[in-house]
Amino acid sequence: MSEKFPLTGISSVAMHTNGHKNAEDAHLTPIFATSTFTFDTAEDGMNRFAGADKTRVYSRWGNPTFTAAEETIAALEAFGLKDTDGKPLQLKALLHASGQAAMTTLFLSNLKSGDAILSHYSLYGGTQELMTKVLAATGIEAIIVDMRDLNKVEEALHQYPNIKMVHIETPANPTIQCIDIEAVTKIAKAKALIVSVDNTFATPYLQQPFKYGVDYVFHSTTKFLNGHGTAIGGILIGRDLEKMKTNVWKWHVLLGGNSNPFDAFLLAQGVKTLELRMERHCANAQQVAEYLEKHPAIAKVNFTGLKSHPDFSVSAKQMRLPGAVMSYELKGGLDAGKKFINQLQMCVRAISLGTVDTLVSHPASMSHFGIPREERIKYGITDGLIRMSVGIENIDDILNDLEQALR
Ligand SMILES: *Cc1c(COP(=O)(O)O)cnc(C)c1O
Repeated sequence: MSEKFPLTGISSVAMHTNGHKNAEDAHLTPIFATSTFTFDTAEDGMNRFAGADKTRVYSRWGNPTFTAAEETIAALEAFGLKDTDGKPLQLKALLHASGQAAMTTLFLSNLKSGDAILSHYSLYGGTQELMTKVLAATGIEAIIVDMRDLNKVEEALHQYPNIKMVHIETPANPTIQCIDIEAVTKIAKAKALIVSVDNTFATPYLQQPFKYGVDYVFHSTTKFLNGHGTAIGGILIGRDLEKMKTNVWKWHVLLGGNSNPFDAFLLAQGVKTLELRMERHCANAQQVAEYLEKHPAIAKVNFTGLKSHPDFSVSAKQMRLPGAVMSYELKGGLDAGKKFINQLQMCVRAISLGTVDTLVSHPASMSHFGIPREERIKYGITDGLIRMSVGIENIDDILNDLEQALR
């Protein structure tokens, strides 16, 4: 929208940031299913090659359908925030084929052999493996500490002077541990380190890490941003516009993890209802967590909307609402967990999260299967832990399904 009419609500921003920007006056940005773009003249081609806008050259470099999703998500992450000059914060986003592709661009464009990255326990399985397998093989070391203890962060930075970047995932998967973004960023910025935040579980509706001065926000758009489970995708958003357009963009196109116009179109539509969906997701999740916490068959519920969660106050400080993903342990351990999952009638047995319907999975045998048992247990991912992404169905049907499956 224009400076003359700044939008005041996040849903308006989600719907109108990239409206009607095409030569054919199509209401929605079309699926530009084309590998390449034509030049009117040799000079036109040269200008587009040399210019900052690379969206109309070759689709690995960019594509107008990607731009629709990129500009919208960047606007949501920047919503209501100001830069150091007091002007509305400007961000640049790069859409990728998957969260993993966006994460690879993030790490490889900021780190080189000999550098180290500081992160914490209980990360998304793919992030954990990317750090310990791929980054390790390129000579980049991952240092993992419990970042909820700020002393551990200080100690690690002191002990490993080669740490160049701090990567935070909050809330973290699947234990819903929360890291204090503001406090960790302050420590990291005192040493001029790069800070990135995986904001997948929260979405920009619940949490805006750029508020605390972080450099990058990452999302697996596969989850709440798409919202309907129709496509895999990832996005990397940065505040250093020059670096995003040069170094980061260069690594992105050379690594080749570009999105495709169809998936980008699905994302651009899905994200428009983010606020409505998140409100319902979060209201349902709170009721489910309170119900489970009181249930005699449940040993423990990990959800920061409950006062029993050790990160209740950190979550309340930096998130609008505690989100819609939780995990819980059945008193009967692994066997009880399997029986419970098999008894579910409406909730869907599947990995992933953030879809409109409720998904239930078993991290030890599914998402975190690739991580050795001792390590996984150290991160709080026990054998009987169940992860649930609460959907936007009618709450009574979710509770009734849980009730009959726990019987
Ligand atoms: C799913 C997920 C990823 C990886 O994203 P993909 O789209 O599956 O490649 C990274 N971080 C978190 C927190 C996730 O949930």
